[in-house]
Amino acid sequence: MKSPEFCYIQPKSIHDALGCLQQYGSDATVLAGGQSLMASLNMRLSSPAILIDINGITELNGISIVEGQLRIGAMTRQVELEHSPLVSQHAPLITMVMPHIAHPAIRNRGTIGGSIAFADPAAELPACMVALKGQIVVQGPDGERRITAEEFSQGLFETALTDNELLTAIEIPIAKETQRFGFRELARRHGDYAMVGVCAASDWSSDNLIDLRLAYFNLGPGPVLAEQTANDICRSWSQEHNERSLNQLGNELDPTDDLNATSAMRVHLAKVLTRRVLQEWAS
Ligand code: FAD
Repeated sequence: MKSPEFCYIQPKSIHDALGCLQQYGSDATVLAGGQSLMASLNMRLSSPAILIDINGITELNGISIVEGQLRIGAMTRQVELEHSPLVSQHAPLITMVMPHIAHPAIRNRGTIGGSIAFADPAAELPACMVALKGQIVVQGPDGERRITAEEFSQGLFETALTDNELLTAIEIPIAKETQRFGFRELARRHGDYAMVGVCAASDWSSDNLIDLRLAYFNLGPGPVLAEQTANDICRSWSQEHNERSLNQLGNELDPTDDLNATSAMRVHLAKVLTRRVLQEWAS
């Protein structure tokens, strides 16, 4: 199918893009890498009157360290994240995650901002940002605001972005040497959206995990942070204790059944994947 007709605007600055959003409000949609949006237009799942193409806004590109944080511009392509030495040094969890997102052709165009703004519950990057305590930077008519990755997700394909705001960057605290990171997902074929996945980050003292964050994807309408289970695992470090803690994971996850797996199966898989992350850390 072909997309419905739309008007096309290509602003060259964040200021101009915000002006367009202010002028056209909910009639307009931002076009980033187009990997999700063009498919939804072609399938007529959405029909915005105006597309605001932000690909020409160079201020939205780039990866840098700013005031002790890794700052990633919203239009940074997924392929750049995958191969960035700054990302692998300061946010190695992102480097682990990237090869699992779709296929190279999609990562060549898809952007970090697009993935986070789209808020697909099966997407890896929103959960990764929750595990890393990332902040989403947005600009609107009243200036700039920062939203924690947890608060940014507001449900199925829903975020805290308003119609006249632009996601401009993501900021992540840089990794400490004492931190550990883990990622596991289960997909039917490599590159498919995962049936279940977990992004994990933790500090580590002599013999215990500290501040473990377990963020799951495709187990709820958005990323799910399993705080009770993580806190319980942090109380002591042994295989037996971890196993007991993982048994309560089902209290914090409430996935739905779908064609791929029942809710109970998904919870079981979440336990298996988390156990593998913990076993990897133990070794
Ligand atoms: P677009 O498609 O351009 O935009 C997506 C949405 O976000 C639109 O509503 C747009 O208005 C909004 N938006 C984009 N940028 C901004 C911004 N800066 N400010 C405000 N709103 C904005 N993703 C995964 O995570 N895991 C997968 O396994 C995976 N598999 C895929 C397989 C296929 C076959 C395809 C086609 C896609 C897959 N994706 C997957 C999605 C892919 O990662 C997309 O690139 C991503 O979801 C959207 O990024 P984009 O830059 O293309 O955004």
